[in-house]
Amino acid sequence: MPDGLSALAPLVADFRSDTVTRPSAAMRAAMAAAAVGDDVYREDPTVAALEERIAADTGKEAALFFPSGTQSNLTALMAHCGRGEEILVGRAYHTFVYEAAGASVLGGAALFALPVAADGALEPSDIAAAVKADDPHFPITTLVSLENTVTGRAVPLDRMAAASAAARAHGLAVHLDGARLFNAAAALEVAPAAVAAAADSVSVCFSKGLGAPVGSALCGPTPLIDKARRLRKMLGGGMRQAGVMAAAALHALDHHVDVLREDHARARRLADALSALPGVEVRADPNPTNMIYLRFTAGDGAAMVAELRRRGVAVGRPSPWSRLVLHLDIDDAAAAHALNAFEAVAGDASAAAGSA
Ligand SMILES: *Cc1c(COP(=O)(O)O)cnc(C)c1O
Repeated sequence: MPDGLSALAPLVADFRSDTVTRPSAAMRAAMAAAAVGDDVYREDPTVAALEERIAADTGKEAALFFPSGTQSNLTALMAHCGRGEEILVGRAYHTFVYEAAGASVLGGAALFALPVAADGALEPSDIAAAVKADDPHFPITTLVSLENTVTGRAVPLDRMAAASAAARAHGLAVHLDGARLFNAAAALEVAPAAVAAAADSVSVCFSKGLGAPVGSALCGPTPLIDKARRLRKMLGGGMRQAGVMAAAALHALDHHVDVLREDHARARRLADALSALPGVEVRADPNPTNMIYLRFTAGDGAAMVAELRRRGVAVGRPSPWSRLVLHLDIDDAAAAHALNAFEAVAGDASAAAGSA
């Protein structure tokens, strides 16, 4: 939620999310130049090119362009699962917590939450134990919904493969919420297709670290994507001259994938510098990518976040950890400005604590 930011000082560094990036001049030029047609008639050449490109990048047969990751995930869950069927999902995963239970509300499928391990993975034993017996008392377990990255942690490939093997041993299909699949691939130093290999279908966001203003894609086997096309239309996601948006996503795939490594390196440098400040604790996460989680150990966290905002730095609300997300619109100068603001705010708090 934007919290009345316009009334405050100009933002120098907006760490609330990697969704806040604005399209660059080059991206806008690519959008303006895009060849377009009516994509519901399947006549938009730029959307077709994007779908072919992202299917290849994720190692899947086909792909479908969506306005949002939520709609892409929802469509995937509905394509895999019918009414009275059940989806096993991590308790902290986006598809369970932040998508308004759409698969249940609109798809009639049950969501069953499993614990998430420290590395972001699901335990194979938890998956096996949650699969319901064939008994009229129970829903029919049909799908496991994975995620990578998970709150900024890149889940290792062997852990994804183990979860996927447990699912397949019970005849379940596997979906991957890969909103930040390219961040995971960069951190694990593998191709995005290697991260997606554990899953039958994968949803990827162009509107996060890749820096496009809008758009996601669902990738998977052709029969599933054909089914997804009908569901997308039913859900109101059939778009017309969507090539202007697909052009932004194609531009991002051509120019912004390698930049993710720089975001990750900048995040680590900033995390190290912040952890050296008095009264600031930085959470140690395995396989971190573009996110930093920190909390203030001296002073009122909410007041300090408000003071940071007065100094042009926006971070997530403390609950109790505040999230900082690095992205294309935060360069070294913006990160340095943020570090100065944190120094001032944390220094004031520890001085006050010392004199009390
Ligand atoms: C952002 C995000 C999504 C999709 O969000 P939209 O805002 O609907 O595009 C899905 N999963 C994860 C993990 C996300 O971070």
